[in-house]
Amino acid sequence: MQFIDLKTQYLAYQAEIDAAMKDVVDTVRFINGPWIGDLERDLAAFVGVKHAIGVSSGTDALLALLMSWGIGPGDEVITTAFTFIATAEVIALVGAKPVFVDIEPDTLNIDPVKVEAAITPNTKLILPVSLYGQCADYVALNAIGAKYGIPVLEDACQSLGSSFQGKRSCALTEAAATSFFPAKPLGCFGDGGMVFTDNDELAEKVRQVKDHGQSARYQHGFLGINGRLDSIQAAVLGAKLPHFQDEIDARQRIANRYIEGLQGHVQTPIIRAGNISVFAQFTVRVANRDAVQKVMGEHGVPTAVHYPIPLPHQPVFKAIRAKSGEAEPCFPESEKAAAEVMSLPMHPFLSEADQDKVVETLIQAVKGA
Ligand SMILES: *Cc1c(COP(=O)(O)O)cnc(C)c1O
Repeated sequence: MQFIDLKTQYLAYQAEIDAAMKDVVDTVRFINGPWIGDLERDLAAFVGVKHAIGVSSGTDALLALLMSWGIGPGDEVITTAFTFIATAEVIALVGAKPVFVDIEPDTLNIDPVKVEAAITPNTKLILPVSLYGQCADYVALNAIGAKYGIPVLEDACQSLGSSFQGKRSCALTEAAATSFFPAKPLGCFGDGGMVFTDNDELAEKVRQVKDHGQSARYQHGFLGINGRLDSIQAAVLGAKLPHFQDEIDARQRIANRYIEGLQGHVQTPIIRAGNISVFAQFTVRVANRDAVQKVMGEHGVPTAVHYPIPLPHQPVFKAIRAKSGEAEPCFPESEKAAAEVMSLPMHPFLSEADQDKVVETLIQAVKGA
């Protein structure tokens, strides 16, 4: 059994994907080929925003936005303590300070009450994550942003395809960043990402930043990065996109089946009213996680932990704090989640037989461990 079965997915769409890739190779338009503009147009329409800008990864999507806003030394960016490293990494990379806040115990997304409490005159950005594919509380977060005149950036690297109160993830905030890493809900065949915004000026800046700060050929007004999306990745995504809504629906069906099967045995994901999660991960909580995970592995059921260490406790951020003499902060909900979360096999091609095995094995493991 695969944790995420990319091979079955490829075989299902092989003819379209192979044709698209061959097109790129035949025309040798590897950089800035027409597939990129086509994908940007189609994904902007899918999400419901004006601008989509292809970039080289989800991390570079976040980085290009921070650079476009001119965020740097002396600035603070508020983000969640419970996410993948890239969310906070880019803040430190531009020289700003990540200000971590704790999560809500049900959704495991950033707690808006704690966000507001963390705002200072130096706060330049609020950077929530739509974790595991469930959107954070963007009504509350946008209200805080508006109150203090600070933009909100959705780290939507796990949530493309989700929706919140009838709007798609990536269309909920001033700007959003998503990832096409192969294991994400819409994955390419390597690294890729996209920036979304309705803001014309910001979109133009991001286009230049991801292309070495270039405004016209060999005209460089400011520092940028080599952050372009490859033609071949855009072509693969273009071939996969027509199937994406069916996959989102399949993920709902599979998640609901997990929730039914596991009811009363483990804590299944809590999805708030108004949210449709794309279930980038299907993550349960178990008190004796490490023992349960070991039993699952022994029975051939792959699992993963997203994430075992809250980011503020990672050595890299401890070292940054040590330099400024700051005390070790405490994030009780993130720490509890880090000790309990366990993600189960989840992808649109998961068979009912495999899913039954996951459910039965987990129920036994929880009883025995
Ligand atoms: C995957 C991910 C990223 C980074 O995306 P890459 O395409 O791998 O650079 C950033 N934030 C979150 C929450 C992610 O899950």
